[in-house]
Amino acid sequence: MSELPPCPDAALMRELSETRRGFHREPELSWTEYQTTAKLCQALEGLGFDIVWGASLYPRAPGNPPDRDTDRQAWERAEQALGSDNPYLTAMRNNRTGLVATLDGNGPGRVFGFRFDIDALPITESEDPAHPPSAQGFASQHPGIMHACGHDGHLTIGLGLARRLAASRDRWSGRVHLFFQPAEEVAGGGAVFADLPQLAEVDLFTTLHLGILDRYRIVFDATWIAARIYDVVYRGLSSHAGNAPQAGRNALLAACQAVQGLYALPRHSAGMSRVNVGRFRSDNAHNVIADEVRFRYEVRGGDNAICDFMAEAAERVLDGAARMHGVDWERSVFAEFSSYPNSRALAERIAALALALGLPEALLQESFQVSASEDAGFLIQRVREQGGEATHLVLGSPVGGGHHSPTFDFDEQLLGWGVLLFERLVMEG
Ligand SMILES: [Zn+2]
Ligand SMILES: [Zn+2]
Repeated sequence: MSELPPCPDAALMRELSETRRGFHREPELSWTEYQTTAKLCQALEGLGFDIVWGASLYPRAPGNPPDRDTDRQAWERAEQALGSDNPYLTAMRNNRTGLVATLDGNGPGRVFGFRFDIDALPITESEDPAHPPSAQGFASQHPGIMHACGHDGHLTIGLGLARRLAASRDRWSGRVHLFFQPAEEVAGGGAVFADLPQLAEVDLFTTLHLGILDRYRIVFDATWIAARIYDVVYRGLSSHAGNAPQAGRNALLAACQAVQGLYALPRHSAGMSRVNVGRFRSDNAHNVIADEVRFRYEVRGGDNAICDFMAEAAERVLDGAARMHGVDWERSVFAEFSSYPNSRALAERIAALALALGLPEALLQESFQVSASEDAGFLIQRVREQGGEATHLVLGSPVGGGHHSPTFDFDEQLLGWGVLLFERLVMEG
């Protein structure tokens, strides 16, 4: 059997579908999740959760905020929707988005942490009638922005779980922290949330991603690859390309050789690796020896050590190419994704719960390495280093045109299964 059975709780499914569609209509980009956070704050406070949001979540500023125009647009849209004196909104100025919601059960017990990412992507959603959100009238109402990775589903599972746990509070013990994390897509929120004091007391941590596999499959130990993304500047000396080429120091030529060298990096036998240059810019007249080039590149590795190996080798290439042409260069980290192994015992325990809930064995899969990166790795690493257990699940589903495409979609039945699975984990203590 390979098809997903419908979630057994039809009332739960109706509620989750409505929630998801509401958030799908109003996507917000990384670090500008103002309306999303405010709505979550209001709902969770109403359920009796203690919430922490806004500036008090941020001992330091977000590392890679959006450009000012993007941010202003999102802020003004949020002010219009919520009112400029909305107490949730006013505390979030300057990209202090996301929240942590905490609820205690009926007595002492383990501390659970669940993380849900909440940001969307700069993609224009498809109007094709074959695309379910368009066909059923819940496509994005924010031009050029779309929940094209399923994070609307993730936060819906978080909110659904919160409703269930609030209703059954006298039947479970311990404490639950729900981490609604911003800016996963730009690898910014995970590093900030990994330092939160609430995470420091977590014994048992779980997060999830919808979709990914393009088929129905529940994975209990999903690992992601590490990535380091850098911005580079090469600075040379300009001169007339006809008159005096010998007087110049060609930053463009150096950078081109650096890019070729990056793609030719030797690889590591211990696991997979990747390298890519996604943007490259040099604005000069045709008759000028170029004095400045900027580009952004990334290296990835199956684990942190392979990624570090790639990053160091890349640095040598960049330095060598610069020296060949006598130009100066510098690089800065744009973003990082950590990869960290999951707790096998926890993955096996959740797999047993899934079976007990009625998910067919044929749909369950022990482990999977995703060829992409996820900044939950920082949170998983922190919890495991402090002696807790942590794992990353994938609730696999057909994904329409694929992640980050204008026709991305997932099967909403997974929302119900996700809530039931996490609820059961807390109930079992
Ligand atoms: Zn994504
Ligand atoms: Zn994602």
